[in-house]
Amino acid sequence: MSRSPGSDRTLASFWVGAVVAAALSLVGAPLPLPLDAGLLAHVAGMLAGYLSAVMVVLMSRAPLLERHVGSDVLTRWHSKGGRLFLILVCVHAGAALGAWAQTRQENLVTALVAVLGLPGLLAATLGTLLFFAIAGVSIRAARRRVSHEAWHGVHLLTYVAISLSFIHELAGPNLAGHPALQVAWTLMHVYALALVVRFRLLLPLENAWRHRLRVEAVVPEAPGVVSVIMSGRHLDELGAEPGQFFRWRFLSSGLWRTAHPFSLSAPRHGDFLRITVKALGGGSTRIQTLTPGTRVFAEGPSGAMTARRRTRGSVLLIAGGVGITPMRAMFETLEMTGGALTLIYRTSRPQDVIFRSELEHLARLRGAEVLWLIGPSSSPELQMTGQNLLRLVPDLAERDVYLCASPAMSAALRAGLAEAGLPLRHLHEEAFTF
Ligand SMILES: Cc1cc2nc3c(=O)[nH]c(=O)nc-3n(C[C@H](O)[C@H](O)[C@H](O)COP(=O)(O)OP(=O)(O)OC[C@H]3O[C@@H](n4cnc5c(N)ncnc54)[C@H](O)[C@@H]3O)c2cc1C
Repeated sequence: MSRSPGSDRTLASFWVGAVVAAALSLVGAPLPLPLDAGLLAHVAGMLAGYLSAVMVVLMSRAPLLERHVGSDVLTRWHSKGGRLFLILVCVHAGAALGAWAQTRQENLVTALVAVLGLPGLLAATLGTLLFFAIAGVSIRAARRRVSHEAWHGVHLLTYVAISLSFIHELAGPNLAGHPALQVAWTLMHVYALALVVRFRLLLPLENAWRHRLRVEAVVPEAPGVVSVIMSGRHLDELGAEPGQFFRWRFLSSGLWRTAHPFSLSAPRHGDFLRITVKALGGGSTRIQTLTPGTRVFAEGPSGAMTARRRTRGSVLLIAGGVGITPMRAMFETLEMTGGALTLIYRTSRPQDVIFRSELEHLARLRGAEVLWLIGPSSSPELQMTGQNLLRLVPDLAERDVYLCASPAMSAALRAGLAEAGLPLRHLHEEAFTF
């Protein structure tokens, strides 16, 4: 899968920050540097503190990150960063305890009791236990057993855990006695938190006030699938691009507490936006029965799978199941001057196909092509092998390929497209899972 230049730049700037944080941990250290447990504790501690701020920034929904890196990539980084953070905290705690015990010739239990008495250490330990509890709920197996709402609620405790650890960071040997560094470190955390408040709290409220989105109609598309058409004001100011999604909060009973991500299934038309929702769980099932007039809060737009990623004249769009929604919007709007536009649409059963007449109409209008792959995945000709894909679209290696499908189909397609000769930097994906 291609990584956007925005992702590379963002990642590079995080690495630079990590180098600075590691360098700060050496402030005041004697020369030559003693390569011991104490030094390891300092470096790991500063890196963990820095990473906790980065993790908050990654989830701040800052538009620059959401549009140029993409929510799925940010979420992946956040989950990898979370694991690294826990490792750094363990290394920091273990090495600090070991160094304390060694320099004072104490056993580990006596050292632990003494260390917990240091300023802010008890709170930091509680914060660490909270981090582990949050990680426990987030690991895949546990996550499957808890609802998204419960998982999200527990995740919000991250802010409490960071606050509990903060005093220890300022009082620790790297920053204590260096007021300028303490101020800079505090500003880093305040900045991360300010991004969250700005983009997760204030912006959705501002948008709600400015755009006054309401449900206009709910239109059945297929069994268990509806389109929700919403009207509002000044919607052009949202700058939403086909391929992007919003997090929608419908202010109706049973729905107002959760913001669900859904892609635009059509480009904005005047004062109207459309999403198309498949009933997969509690929230998406309730959306099927929304009534016109329901107020809507929209957070976004997010997502980097847009026309901006294109570098080639011809495009292949591939959709699996309800993954057709962002592709439908792009099929209408991608600029085609001289290049070809093909949509492969894969569903298991004919009744699962949505937008059939719209897609046929757009294909005629735009001189584009839709290839319908309908049937069970056991059919050899429907499998996403390189050979089958090349049979369908012989020049696919020369195109930009956009993909939105289930994790299993996406994995098969990644392998098939690579086998067919597509350089993976020309593959642009949106995953419907975080
Ligand atoms: C970027 C993106 C775009 C999407 N676009 C579409 C679309 O156009 N059409 C469509 O039908 N579906 C889309 N989805 C999937 C849709 O968001 C989920 O099916 C829906 O939120 C499930 O909610 P639920 O309460 O019905 O299901 P649940 O039973 O609560 O959960 C089913 C699955 O959805 C996940 N999920 C639930 N709530 C959320 C949430 N608030 N945020 C993130 N994940 C959640 C759960 O972790 C679980 O994996 C998209 C998902 C993402 C991430």
